[in-house]
Amino acid sequence: MQNQKPKPRILTGDRPTGPLHLGHYVGTLANRVKLQDQYDCFFIIADLHTLTTAATKDKTSAIPDRVRGLVLDYLSIGIDPEKSVIYQQSRVPQVAYLATIFSNLISVPRAQRVPTLKEIMHDLHIQQPSLGLLNYPVLQAADILMVKANLVPVGKDQESHVEISREIARDFNKIFGEVFPIPKALIGDIPTLIGTDGQAKMSKSIGNCIYLSDDSDTVLQKVKTMYTDPNRIHPTDPGKVEGNPVFIYHDAFNDNKSEVADLKDRYQKGTVGDVEVKQKLAVAINKFLDPIRQTRQKFESKPDLIDDIITSGSQKAASQAQKTLDEVLQTMGIR
Ligand code: ATP
Ligand code: MG
Repeated sequence: MQNQKPKPRILTGDRPTGPLHLGHYVGTLANRVKLQDQYDCFFIIADLHTLTTAATKDKTSAIPDRVRGLVLDYLSIGIDPEKSVIYQQSRVPQVAYLATIFSNLISVPRAQRVPTLKEIMHDLHIQQPSLGLLNYPVLQAADILMVKANLVPVGKDQESHVEISREIARDFNKIFGEVFPIPKALIGDIPTLIGTDGQAKMSKSIGNCIYLSDDSDTVLQKVKTMYTDPNRIHPTDPGKVEGNPVFIYHDAFNDNKSEVADLKDRYQKGTVGDVEVKQKLAVAINKFLDPIRQTRQKFESKPDLIDDIITSGSQKAASQAQKTLDEVLQTMGIR
């Protein structure tokens, strides 16, 4: 047999704080599906990371169902568990060990300067960050470096976290010896999709989302109440297209480009109403979601399969994590 070069690695994932939405799709999921043949992929369901913003019993006891929901979301968009490892972070305790080591390689002011921290605190009305929230990017660095990932497909909001992973990897290699590749972020086609409220990024903790699992009526209702140009009162008023969420979504999800061009033109002239623009958007989003819904249906009736995917994926991730941890401890001279 020929000696094949190992594939480069991807690590990325999601917090089980709710179902996946259109923002996830354009920010990271599309890249995951596209790259799963070229890379060895590890997709983490980062349940320990949910504690940073939701350390209450009602939230933690919702985790198992939410984890299953995310796996179903992954399968529905075409992530193949035969090719890619899907795992639950809390089943890989080595990652907490590595995070403890890494937390000594970053200063508190550096962690405080991560822009996501301020954004999360603002969006979720958090007055004082917990140590866990401050440590969010360090735990993420442990996830990424634990599998020696080369590429991290994420939305723009996570770019500053990947930067921390790069710094930690460089510092570790310099201080103790070469162990880690320096991972790179890969940002999606739409780096940050705005929410239906037009106020903040689409985010499951805020509830301004169109979910991949929404049925067609729900999509229509959500689109109908979407934020649009607030200065446009009558359909005959010339409207603004740039920065208007309705047109951002048309650009992202409507594959009928001439329809989009025509709607934009008429909107700017004041010859089309919001109702028509929104109805056409709902049709386009539903067309985009239909194949995802069909694949979901195939897996919905197989809860045992979903549990098996989590168990076996977590075993694979844990074995990789143990290898890296052993190498780390040896390189540091601790073992
Ligand atoms: P939460 O509100 O709990 O933080 P979230 O909706 O922000 O949830 P995450 O699990 O934090 O989702 O993010 C998972 C991945 O999806 C990350 O790579 C993140 O950058 C990306 N992502 C999340 N929201 C968006 C968005 N609106 N646009 C583009 N990418 C996004
Ligand atoms: Mg988030």
